[in-house]
Amino acid sequence: MKKAIKTEIIRVNSKRPDYGIIEKASKLICSGEIVAFPTETVYGLGANALDSSSVTKIYKIKGRPSDNPLIVHVADMDTLKKLVMEIPPGAKGIINKFWPGPITLVLKKSEIVPHITTGGLSTIAVRMPRNNVVLALIKMSGLPIAAPSANISGRPSPTKAKHVKDDLNGKIKLILDGGSTEIGIESTVIDMTQDTPVILRPGGISKELIEDEIGKVHFHNSLLGSDLSKNKINKSPGMKYRHYSPNAQVILVEGPTNTAKNKIIELTQRLKRENKKVCIMTTSKSLKINAVKIQYMGKTFDTIARNLFANLREADDNNIDIILVQGIQYKKTGFAIMNRLRKAANTSIRV
Ligand code: AMP
Ligand code: MG
Repeated sequence: MKKAIKTEIIRVNSKRPDYGIIEKASKLICSGEIVAFPTETVYGLGANALDSSSVTKIYKIKGRPSDNPLIVHVADMDTLKKLVMEIPPGAKGIINKFWPGPITLVLKKSEIVPHITTGGLSTIAVRMPRNNVVLALIKMSGLPIAAPSANISGRPSPTKAKHVKDDLNGKIKLILDGGSTEIGIESTVIDMTQDTPVILRPGGISKELIEDEIGKVHFHNSLLGSDLSKNKINKSPGMKYRHYSPNAQVILVEGPTNTAKNKIIELTQRLKRENKKVCIMTTSKSLKINAVKIQYMGKTFDTIARNLFANLREADDNNIDIILVQGIQYKKTGFAIMNRLRKAANTSIRV
């Protein structure tokens, strides 16, 4: 068996990152190593996007299937132009409005991008993140950085350095700790190679905001079905894999607030009788049950998104058997939140 690597965690100011720390991380990236760092969405696990053997390490460390392509992160437009064949007008509109920020564009890739980075596809997913640590790291390295979320494949994405450590301790040399991430869910992924752009993954920038900027866009069919798990459509390869799952079993309860709350109370009583350790994730402050841990998810979509993955991981820290989650509305960023919850859930109940 391979000897474990010592994982160093270095605290870094996410507004004004220390030059020496970024230099250390950049040297690792330039020598083909892997580094974990904060972005505004979730923590990323980064490597030189143009080097096949560096990128291969990411897939190995995460246990990620090799046909699930990575997002490439850039810090300037010149680099973007080298990575893609063309930038259509809609893509320019999105870039001008939302970059740096949580939206990833799928464009036709250029020759210099290795196939391993794009999971064998002729397109590349690329974005400019809005976090000074990762931006400084990309600039100092002088390289585009391929980075999926810094978790073991299938687990909830990491929004704190601790989450990265919990999953990857002994597997990577360096974690830059920039505190909790600002957005908390991943970027929106939008395919700009179609006549009408198609959202492949809902995320930090909502469909409503994109349409305000560039007009009509579609959700990919697989995002609209009533049972995501049965959907075999595979446009964005990440869609077909189980995702965001804590060790605890997740039951999602969707429906009008009071009916959903009553269902959660009923289920809790039943599970307690079966001696299960239950935790409830809810947007309702009035939901209280004796001797049951209640995670208040927050009031606004922004707060719910920011705490979502941390809440799921905290249940594991508390050895919870079953998490009952109250669903939220499918609008604005709520759509992306529900997408994550439905993938995390073993069971969905509609009341
Ligand atoms: P992650 O890196 O874990 O945030 O996942 C990246 C997401 O972007 C996955 O859902 C990928 O399938 C998707 N993605 C990356 N590159 C492409 C591409 N070229 N075409 C379609 N989807 C992509
Ligand atoms: Mg991921």
